[in-house]
Amino acid sequence: MEQIVFTLILLVALGVFAFTLSKIIAFFRITKPAYPVRDIGKRMVMTLQTAFLQDKIFRFPLSGFLHAMVFWGFLTIQFVNLEMVIDGVFGGSKSLAFLGFFHSFMVGAADVFAWVVAAFVVIFLVRRVVLHVKRLDGKELKPKNHYDAYIALGLIFVLMVTLMGKNIFYLVSQPESLAGAFPVSSLLAPLFSGVSAEGAYMVYKGNWWAHILLVFVFANILPYSKHFHIFVSIPNVFLSRTEPLGQLSNMEKIQEEVKLMMNPDTAFAAAPENAAPERFGVADVEDISWKNYIDSLACTQCGRCTAVCPANITGKELSPRKLYVDIRRRMNEKGPGLRKNKDHNDGKMLIRDYIKEEEIWACTTCMACAQECPLNIDHPAFIVDLRRYLVMEESKAGAELNAMFSNMENNGAPWQYSHEDRLKWTE
Ligand code: SF4
Ligand code: SF4
Repeated sequence: MEQIVFTLILLVALGVFAFTLSKIIAFFRITKPAYPVRDIGKRMVMTLQTAFLQDKIFRFPLSGFLHAMVFWGFLTIQFVNLEMVIDGVFGGSKSLAFLGFFHSFMVGAADVFAWVVAAFVVIFLVRRVVLHVKRLDGKELKPKNHYDAYIALGLIFVLMVTLMGKNIFYLVSQPESLAGAFPVSSLLAPLFSGVSAEGAYMVYKGNWWAHILLVFVFANILPYSKHFHIFVSIPNVFLSRTEPLGQLSNMEKIQEEVKLMMNPDTAFAAAPENAAPERFGVADVEDISWKNYIDSLACTQCGRCTAVCPANITGKELSPRKLYVDIRRRMNEKGPGLRKNKDHNDGKMLIRDYIKEEEIWACTTCMACAQECPLNIDHPAFIVDLRRYLVMEESKAGAELNAMFSNMENNGAPWQYSHEDRLKWTE
């Protein structure tokens, strides 16, 4: 009976998760291509360094250490969760015990990490609620973003407590065939030696069910919160650009135009596939690439990018974190309409209604944000795409840029002197 109930709950949890995922995948279908995913070996090394070893996270040593421990704890505890699911479906206990030392190692590590993660989550909560760390705040973060964080941290804490309870009372209930290692729980179990084996077994089972049900609830809440990065951050790092930071993506249609101007006989000029693209750059979510969208889902809202942004530090409107908060919000707003009708127009745009021109032009393209982002998000590349739309579709650039464009057109140089006069300074 217990197996049947568990399997039904598991199927419902998987079904709800698959439904949510299908909505997100439908949003990806609206997006444009980005770049081909090549250099798999290089990507795997990058993923190992940045996602698994968390190299960028450690640039803030204390918070980096706390975050890395929670991340590694999360990965380890997934082994225990997987075993619980197998136990729940097929009955029995400790189904993966046949793995021997590896099983004991993982169960033992999870037993330690449950305490570490619980302690560090409390520190994270104190940091948010009491210390009000500047990096974790910003005008782009609404109260909902903060509540999301509190709920996720609270759930993680309860998950860890139920894992501790499960382990301690597993030992107190004295199973005939003890499986796994419990370095912390074995120290605490004697405190409950007065509890009968049956009573301990009931507490163990209560914690077992509470833990796994919370895992299912948590997994289904995540896609609606910033903590979706728990699922998306590793793939996002794997899929990030491998070109050096600052290398602009080529606009092939423009390149063709330039080639055509230089050589009108160019054969590709007449090819029908060389028709002008529907849009230059990015104006709204239907123009963004799949990479921009997965970036917005992966963004942890940690604020490391904004904390190092010279524009933000000097009081400009720009906050690189906001760009990705805005993409996600705008996709949630316009995406459902676009799924039904690709020409859907709700009278708003990502540019201006969400991201002001002032923000777009405040960027110095210094790359500090992309350098610091623990998920390898390339903010300046996205900002350049927003600028491409403004300049190429609306001819809207700052006065200084317009002067430079005219000079380049007329003089072949950014200054207001003919290029024939460029050596006059020597006189
Ligand atoms: S873009 Fe990167 S650095 Fe900025 S808030 Fe998101 S995850 Fe953090
Ligand atoms: S590239 Fe732009 S957004 Fe990023 S840190 Fe520099 S000025 Fe800020």
